[in-house]
Amino acid sequence: MDSPDREQTAIQRLKTAAQLSENYYHEPMTVCYSGGKDSEVILELCRRAGVPYRVVHNLTTADAPETVRHVRKVFYGLELAGVSCTILKPFYKGQRTSMWQLIPIKRIPPTRRIRYCCTVLKENSNQNCCTVLGIRKLESSARSDSAVAELPGRNRSERVVFDMDNGDARIIAPCQMKATIKIHPIVDWTDAEVWQFLRDAKVDINPVYGMGFNRVGCVGCPMAGKIRYTEFRRWPKYAMLYRRAFGRMVEVRRSLGKDGPWDSADEVFRWWMEDKNLDGQIDIFGGEVGAFEP
Ligand code: SF4
Repeated sequence: MDSPDREQTAIQRLKTAAQLSENYYHEPMTVCYSGGKDSEVILELCRRAGVPYRVVHNLTTADAPETVRHVRKVFYGLELAGVSCTILKPFYKGQRTSMWQLIPIKRIPPTRRIRYCCTVLKENSNQNCCTVLGIRKLESSARSDSAVAELPGRNRSERVVFDMDNGDARIIAPCQMKATIKIHPIVDWTDAEVWQFLRDAKVDINPVYGMGFNRVGCVGCPMAGKIRYTEFRRWPKYAMLYRRAFGRMVEVRRSLGKDGPWDSADEVFRWWMEDKNLDGQIDIFGGEVGAFEP
């Protein structure tokens, strides 16, 4: 890769994270593996770092079948190598859930600004441990201020960031309290560096990339914008699942006496796919996202 130091820096970050995890949490650090290219890099770096770690995958219930199969295959190989792997099924308020159940419960489709699905399906696990993620600043504007080590707050402005590369000793305090510490070893890598590393390491990547997609995530993710048209052509069953969930959502809204803004699943689907709702979307519901919390 262009920057050979990048790999060594990331490995050093992983070694520090592994040490923090063993010293304060008395367990191996937890690597979150999504099946995407960035988490693939993290797994390979952990292997090269020779540190103890366990791996978890959050089952979103909306991932492409190829991703689900790829995760199983990677986990099979890791378990043969002695790495503990767990697929975490999603729960909401103590009950098993899925994308398709959450939509009627929340009474609004997931959108760019109202991403309750990520909170429930992807971020509701790995509490109080040293968690390693493949987050990178260049992935999106929302992640552009990500740091190597973070103590999450109730929102982004409340989080505390640490200069892990320079031995920021403040990180010890949350570890002693066994709060959740998030470590991002490749936070400063570019796309080109990620791809070059995977090519050099001959990593077997998710076949979804070979189908022309440059992101791996839930099919129909609102963050994917117009790419969703291509996704639904490739995986039409998911469009049907969203439509059905939107239909149940409209019924729930009607049963609660909420008129509009939609009368049918098709109307919701069209509104949702048109993606014109970036700034105005909250206003059409009266301005309160919290109003949709059951
Ligand atoms: S659809 Fe997108 S926002 Fe929702 S859980 Fe999946 S990745 Fe997160």
